[in-house]
Amino acid sequence: MNGLSGLGAVVTGGASGIGLATARLLSAHGARVAVLDLKPDSVEEPLVPLRADVADDASVRDAVAEAAQELGGIDILVNNAGIGAIGTVEDNPDEQWHAVLDVNVLGIVRTTRAALPYLRASRNASVVNTCSIAATAGLPQRALYSASKGAVLALTLAMAADHVREGIRINCVNPGTADTPWVARLLDAADDPAAERAALNARQPSGRLVTADEVAAAIAYLASPAAASVTGTALAVDGGMAGL
Ligand code: NAD
Repeated sequence: MNGLSGLGAVVTGGASGIGLATARLLSAHGARVAVLDLKPDSVEEPLVPLRADVADDASVRDAVAEAAQELGGIDILVNNAGIGAIGTVEDNPDEQWHAVLDVNVLGIVRTTRAALPYLRASRNASVVNTCSIAATAGLPQRALYSASKGAVLALTLAMAADHVREGIRINCVNPGTADTPWVARLLDAADDPAAERAALNARQPSGRLVTADEVAAAIAYLASPAAASVTGTALAVDGGMAGL
């Protein structure tokens, strides 16, 4: 990916799955990368580990300021931290709604708000939010999670409109089911994880799950100068799942 060299990138939820793959890919293309995560210490050099809880405004502000100092500025923000919830509207209590929306939606608001002063000083300012096919697909047993990702999609489009004249591009990726530790945890909880995985693969139009590296490649593209005229879009990386 051309044009990433020397840029400063912050990836939330960057210690696992899609976020870690993204942090590694941006770094491999020459970006300086800070990982903001609840548990960042497992990430390897040269990634910069910074502890942050996107559900806590003070924690986000401190970590973003520290990232800007460590990286010499912030050009790219990847709002990727997210948590799941399974159930219908009858299953998830109000507290769980508040907790998930606090991370998946307000987490993006807090981190973007903290990063905007640095992004305004960049000549390649780009924000990429990790959304999901759940935003539009009408998935069963995912009322809360889908609502949170629907909000991420709407937020992405509105923020893109608000900041386009400042030269800040804002897009999202919509992964289908991706083979990450998150999904592995769900499969491991099944009675027969191998059979569950086979059934999950069979439900994909492409016959397999999306990989974290494939989502990372889409994020890196949207973050890079190659996407200089791309803002206010959602790029599906779902093996055809949402479109079929
Ligand atoms: P993952 O669980 O492997 O990684 C998520 C990371 O986010 C973890 O390192 C975790 O510590 C961190 N995190 C969680 N809450 C946080 C908080 N409050 N503050 C800071 N960091 C926090 O998950 P993943 O599968 O890589 O998912 C990453 C993103 O991709 C999420 O936004 C998720 O909704 C989205 N997504 C995942 C899939 C999938 O199938 N895996 C599909 C569509 C979208």
